[in-house]
Amino acid sequence: MQIAGNAFLVTGGASGLGEATASRLAKAGGRVVIADVNEEAGRRLALHLGDTARFAKADVTREDDLKLAITAAASFAPSRGLRGIICCAGIAPAAKVFGKKGPHPAQLFRQAIEINLVGTFHAMTLAAAAMAENEPDDDGERGVIINTASVAAFEGQIGQIAYAASKGGVAAMTLPAARDLAPLGIRVVAIAPGVFDTPMVEGMPEKVRQGLEAQCVFPPRLGRAEEYASLVEEIIRNRMLNGAVLRLDGAVRLAAR
Ligand code: NAD
Repeated sequence: MQIAGNAFLVTGGASGLGEATASRLAKAGGRVVIADVNEEAGRRLALHLGDTARFAKADVTREDDLKLAITAAASFAPSRGLRGIICCAGIAPAAKVFGKKGPHPAQLFRQAIEINLVGTFHAMTLAAAAMAENEPDDDGERGVIINTASVAAFEGQIGQIAYAASKGGVAAMTLPAARDLAPLGIRVVAIAPGVFDTPMVEGMPEKVRQGLEAQCVFPPRLGRAEEYASLVEEIIRNRMLNGAVLRLDGAVRLAAR
């Protein structure tokens, strides 16, 4: 899938990995709709990127918001339609199964599942419906869906039960979704990042952040959001990438804490 002239939607595009992705796709000539609940940051980024970017306020837990954002993206390249969605919206709550404050709050667990997993599911199903209307390119390709899991899907740390469950779901959806959408020429790939230097990680307590950094093998540092965006670009361009969960982690294998 080429990037120039095609429309892409980036959920969670106002910050961190999504922001770097929206910027990279816009610079590569793509038309990018940034969908996020953070209106101020999203509008600021769209303004900064110029004519090739727009902002759509969208909460990924609300199907109607996503439908509007998808329509906005499709109409950004009317003769081509929506060709790619990159799902970066997410939260990372921390609580133990049973801790000092008692049992894990069920509401916190539900919230992580609702935003990280069900939000990704909504984005995927609704984007696929829009992409199904596209004229196929050579090789019969109509679109590409890129979801964001986490290495926590495989090595959830202490306090990550809700996050790990949500990201495990994102990882597990990849192959069946790719199989379901193959007849339409729509690819589905997930990226499982290790530890990246974004506001999500900056917001963690210093001790937790330092512990994560110390586990990075090579390079011995946190990942950079541009490195995530670079993989997104390769996934969009390389049609043989499909149905896979790609670790992007500098060989990190997270310990219990
Ligand atoms: P971030 O906090 O910088 O960005 C997340 C964005 O998602 C924010 O702009 C936020 O407003 C938006 N968002 C939150 N809830 C939303 C909702 N309901 N609807 C729409 N937008 C919503 O975090 P990040 O580090 O860039 O994370 C991006 C994704 O990558 C997340 O899914 C995260 O779980 C995943 N991830 C991050 C890391 C890391 O180390 N940073 C590692 C593994 C996976």
